[in-house]
Amino acid sequence: MLTDLPILEAARLFSPTDYREVLKREMDGGKIPLSLGKECPVKCEFCYELDHSYRETLDPPKTTQEDWEFILNYINTKPTDPVQFWCLGGNEYMEWTDLFLHPKAMEWVEDFLKYTDKNIQFFTVGFVHVPKIHQLVEQYPGRINFELSVITLGRYRQQLMPHAPSVKHVMKVLDGPAVSSANFYAFDHNTMSEDAKAISKINSQCVLWMGCLTPVKGINESTGALMRKGRASLPTEAEKIYDAGLPNLTTIHTEAYVTAFLNRNRILSIFDSLELERRDPVVMARSVYKILTMFRRNRAKYLYIPNATLGGDSDCTVLLTLNDIALRITNEKYIFIPQCVVESGRGADKDIAGVTVDDFVKKTGVKVRLLRKINTKFANNRLYRNGSLQNYVNDYVRNPLVRHYETFPLSA
Ligand code: SF4
Repeated sequence: MLTDLPILEAARLFSPTDYREVLKREMDGGKIPLSLGKECPVKCEFCYELDHSYRETLDPPKTTQEDWEFILNYINTKPTDPVQFWCLGGNEYMEWTDLFLHPKAMEWVEDFLKYTDKNIQFFTVGFVHVPKIHQLVEQYPGRINFELSVITLGRYRQQLMPHAPSVKHVMKVLDGPAVSSANFYAFDHNTMSEDAKAISKINSQCVLWMGCLTPVKGINESTGALMRKGRASLPTEAEKIYDAGLPNLTTIHTEAYVTAFLNRNRILSIFDSLELERRDPVVMARSVYKILTMFRRNRAKYLYIPNATLGGDSDCTVLLTLNDIALRITNEKYIFIPQCVVESGRGADKDIAGVTVDDFVKKTGVKVRLLRKINTKFANNRLYRNGSLQNYVNDYVRNPLVRHYETFPLSA
């Protein structure tokens, strides 16, 4: 390991008076940057923003009517892409919050639909006004993608999200045309499967987006333990839903080890096409490392990089940082890095913390060769493909090879 390695830090971007600059950057990234002017008051135990110290953010003041007009005018200067959905809420240079807690949010969503010709998507744990939200979806067909974060309806709800809307309210939100997709997770036996049946009974049209949550830095121990219990229950919970034959589209997407395995053939074929030499060092996170070591042993020098920045059980090559890589390298003169690592929302050639490849090379003395084919587009396509519940059950849960994959040692 390198000694006295400087921690790689991105240059600072903003001063506290720059908040309009932050709004513009978010809008340039396709976001509608409303702000509550404070951290999210819902304080869910599983929130991935509990520790977001790895990236520089600024808390713009609570959005005023004047700010809103500035936002709407700026967005209207952008060309309309019929397949783009503008996301309510900045989350790159601002902290993610549930924006339906802003008293004007419903009104401004309506303004957006009325005064622009663009589409909108939003995520909320359910703080929307019923029946207004159902009425808007009917009035503007195809322009709203509403992802309802149900999380769980059962016995762990109070522990995980004590300040979220009641189950009764969530069911009213689900009862109608508004919700495009409901996301909820396994925490134990009869959690995700019971929720799937309850949601499907009231709404057979919305997509059921399921899986389990990954503990990351900042999440407390008991919540992390519950998430891991959920991971252990995922296969049986998924099989129960599969056997129930619900009419909804059903997906299991959220865990990297599953995604990597289900997409193993594509990962191997793109890797083969890179024509690397046996001694070429290539960096990757845990699951991709396992796949390549299992199926392409000794074709290159695989460097498993823990997601130290995000911490917890994170396992994602796209979310590796250059600092994570710097902590792991030893005597390499050069390394290959997948392009997706430095194609984050913070800009070209930057990782999720805003550190550039040039910073890395300057501070470590290790040369970088980017694997351009392994880009964000490839990674995103993989994330969404093969993620149906049916595929998860047949190609993961019921695949005997999975036992070997799950127990495959990282030091092999
Ligand atoms: S509502 Fe969303 S942003 Fe707010 S604490 Fe919960 S998960 Fe985090």
